[in-house]
Amino acid sequence: MTGTAFSDETILCTAGVDADRAFGAVMPPLYLSANFAFEGYGKPRAHDYSRSGNPTRDKLAEAIAALEQGAGGVVTSSGLAAVDLVLALLKPGDRVIAPHDCYGGTWRLLTARAERGAFEVLFVDQNDPNALEQAFARQPTLLWIETPSNPLMRIVDIEALCQRAKACGARVAADNTFLSPVLQKPISLGADFLVHSTTKYLNGHSDVVGGAAVAARKDDAEQLKWWANCLGTAGAPFDSWLTLRGLRTLSVRVERQQETAGNIAQRLAQHPAIAKVHYPGLASHPGHGTAAKQQRGFGAMLSFELAIAGDEIAAFLGQLKRFILAESLGGFESLIAHPATMTHLSMSAEARAQAGIGDGLFRLSIGLEAFEDLWSDLRAALDCLSPIF
Ligand code: PLP
Repeated sequence: MTGTAFSDETILCTAGVDADRAFGAVMPPLYLSANFAFEGYGKPRAHDYSRSGNPTRDKLAEAIAALEQGAGGVVTSSGLAAVDLVLALLKPGDRVIAPHDCYGGTWRLLTARAERGAFEVLFVDQNDPNALEQAFARQPTLLWIETPSNPLMRIVDIEALCQRAKACGARVAADNTFLSPVLQKPISLGADFLVHSTTKYLNGHSDVVGGAAVAARKDDAEQLKWWANCLGTAGAPFDSWLTLRGLRTLSVRVERQQETAGNIAQRLAQHPAIAKVHYPGLASHPGHGTAAKQQRGFGAMLSFELAIAGDEIAAFLGQLKRFILAESLGGFESLIAHPATMTHLSMSAEARAQAGIGDGLFRLSIGLEAFEDLWSDLRAALDCLSPIF
């Protein structure tokens, strides 16, 4: 599928469909087999062992690479395994510039690998031109981008950053989890690699933990495949099958979810209990213009700040009936997270403070429920806080 001119919707509906030569199954079959018989001595088939390659997993990898306009990709056992796979291409002495406000698990992984000497990492506010220039002056090997960032929804200009990175010979990797390829295509903006937690929008049904790494160039894609086999980080065939099934509805899910998210953001911005709303679709968001330029929509993730602490946090969360207090995002069900104690707990307290992730920050993943039901749930919980303000 890679390199075709088909639209996303067509790729989503046709990837791996009607390709079964054995029985004519319209839906791609699930090949659970760990191994595949050789045709004879010295004659392996297309697949020999499922760690190295599996027909079901390959179908998913091809679909994601096609959607992302990459040369090839690898499906991994989690989003973090995909991050680690790209980092596996680095060597001691290499330097990574990463966002100071990235996903907590990515921060922990970069920090832990750097502490073991795998590479050096510089966490930088990528919206601060001086800090960025200082980091670029130190001849980085890789620039890591996460836009919108988790959980503060900060936006960086992917094209401008890729041009700057390339001017000093650095490669660029982008985490595209928050938007999915139907809303943003980092490779078309100059990125060399991208990763997904397919746990989120790509599967969309909150029943698989998985990931994917995609490369713009064929030689890089081959490197990713080589390392995935070497490290044994490839995803399970059943998980790939479920994710491919979830992927079919990606564009309609995201379209509906972001419409509701936009409406929720507008209402939140007008509520007296809210100190701040972080949603790139709001004209007041500092990254609104860049998001409008490089994204096909503003997505279904947002965060907001309340001037509350301690027991008030539990009381606010306890009021909610429709939003589930849980990790993860991008599923059909709406979730609320408290980043300081959940998704970003693995960051040091100092790093959280520098990133701006305080106790009053809440993150919403908007699902497919009716807007009215979601908003009335949030409004009821917020109305209980209003007298404080
Ligand atoms: N990248 C981002 C932006 C995430 O939000 C997450 C998880 O929340 C990950 C990567 C890691 O994905 P996984 O949980 O599938 O390992």
